[in-house]
Amino acid sequence: MDDIKANFNSVEERVLSACKRAGRDRSEVTLIAVSKTKPIEMLQEAYEAGARDYGENKVQELTAKMPVLPNDISWHMIGHLQRNKVKYIAEGISLIHSVDSYRLAEEINIQAKKAKRRIPILIEVNVAGEDTKFGVALDETLQLCKEISELDGVEIKGLMTIAPYTPDPESNRPYFRQLKQLSIDIANEKIDNVSMDILSMGMTGDFEVAIEEGSTMVRVGTGIFGERNYGTTA
Ligand SMILES: *Cc1c(COP(=O)(O)O)cnc(C)c1O
Repeated sequence: MDDIKANFNSVEERVLSACKRAGRDRSEVTLIAVSKTKPIEMLQEAYEAGARDYGENKVQELTAKMPVLPNDISWHMIGHLQRNKVKYIAEGISLIHSVDSYRLAEEINIQAKKAKRRIPILIEVNVAGEDTKFGVALDETLQLCKEISELDGVEIKGLMTIAPYTPDPESNRPYFRQLKQLSIDIANEKIDNVSMDILSMGMTGDFEVAIEEGSTMVRVGTGIFGERNYGTTA
């Protein structure tokens, strides 16, 4: 049995140390507990440990979990989002991290208007250029931000990336640095309706390096909830 409270506290301490090393204030970094595949009871344990931001990658899981957990939680959509499912999360989602096309942003815009709100989004960037990953290329990101900025139901708040899976977090440092630089370049363009306040980067294996490189949101699943079991009986 995973001790979620102990795990959460230890991740929290590592976040704090990374902030200190980088000369950053702890309040600059949001720790998102990535609870995908995990049951409600485990989310409740994390809540008791202090987690208030949760990340999910499936709409069905979000719609099942959101109504039954306390309403001071911020819910983050971090997985690939299909346009026909945006409507189910438009009302309650705090931030959609995974926008990588104008067409998806357009649908979010429509559903945001129906829900009478503006929906904060991040642009997902495939920094390492892995062809197994979603996300836009580095050199297409500025153009996409400009196009999406015209949609007044969405607010671009920054960038997100999923770095390659690696046993050596140092090998992802250049990717984090590139995403940070891109966010500075885009901020300098001063586009209406586009801010670069949020940089969502860093997961269980590499969140400390990501914080050192300027991350403002780390997405930690395994480190808090333990390994995920996707199998049926395994
Ligand atoms: C699953 C997932 C995470 C968490 O991964 P861990 O390695 O378990 O921390 C973070 N971000 C995204 C987009 C994910 O899908």
